[in-house]
Amino acid sequence: LFIPITLVVYLTLYYAQYLFSHKRSMYTEVKLALKMREFFLHYQPHVDASSGRVFGVEALVRWQHPVRGVVYPDVFIPLMEEYGLMNELTDYVLDTAYHDLVGKGFIDGKHLGINVPPGYLSDKKSIYLLKQYKQKFDDIGVSLGLEITERQFLDDAACESISRLRASGVDILIDDFGTGQTSLSVLEQTNIDYLKIDKCFVDSIGHQSVNTPVLNAIINLANELDVGIIAEGVETDLQAQYLLTQGVTLHQGYLYAKPTLIDELYLSDGE
Ligand code: C2E
Ligand code: MG
Ligand code: MG
Ligand code: MG
Repeated sequence: LFIPITLVVYLTLYYAQYLFSHKRSMYTEVKLALKMREFFLHYQPHVDASSGRVFGVEALVRWQHPVRGVVYPDVFIPLMEEYGLMNELTDYVLDTAYHDLVGKGFIDGKHLGINVPPGYLSDKKSIYLLKQYKQKFDDIGVSLGLEITERQFLDDAACESISRLRASGVDILIDDFGTGQTSLSVLEQTNIDYLKIDKCFVDSIGHQSVNTPVLNAIINLANELDVGIIAEGVETDLQAQYLLTQGVTLHQGYLYAKPTLIDELYLSDGE
């Protein structure tokens, strides 16, 4: 009993200091936010634009800051990377997603994309945990996929983990495809399930931009490799129509839905 009481007192004091101190460090703030469970998830559908059916959802983390309100990942993820807290955040997101989705019948049969930094995959403990979550999500009818960003380097250990996870049935998606430097070597070394085409290529549709020929080349590459494609950041009908004429049917973007809380998610079954 002594230890829990000490812990509660300690945390309360810590939290009070955190709220009112002008000198609090960002590290303390972010670390404490994990402990206080101030992060939560929004979900954004991946839609099959040829049928209107929802294929799956991506989990996107947000920070409910006690003073500043909702803080978006582009603000705190670079900090957490710097502080070496990304593995802890990823564990947290997996756990939160599971608790959000358990008991939600409408998610049955859908895919779930979790963003995973490459560094997470070099850690043996994470691979063990991911396999456990794969089983837990299977049990509630959800197919787990990992969105691995292409902006950071995938080392050999990470590539090996990718192969092992994929063999256990986890989908592998390469996120922000086309913006990193390792794209082609990664495709050579590992089998993957989907490429997510970065928004900057979708943005170029309808504009005179070098990104449109690159977009077409990425689509051809994915087709040649027999890898699925998800287009992200689809905002206009023009973009959606163009992608459909190129055979890209899985879309994610504000045209279909903005990221929302799980209970505000409306998953149409098409028609
Ligand atoms: P991402 O994985 O490429 O996620 C897509 C981002 O594009 C999301 O921003 C989403 O809200 C935004 N988006 C989707 N459709 C549209 C659209 O039509 N227009 C515009 N303007 N934006 C759109 P968000 O939620 O701010 O996330 C930014 C990035 O932060 C993500 O990019 C991902 O790299 C990272 N991130 C988010 N959640 C997590 C997480 O749980 N773990 C990790 N490791 N990274 C995360
Ligand atoms: Mg993503
Ligand atoms: Mg993405
Ligand atoms: Mg992106």
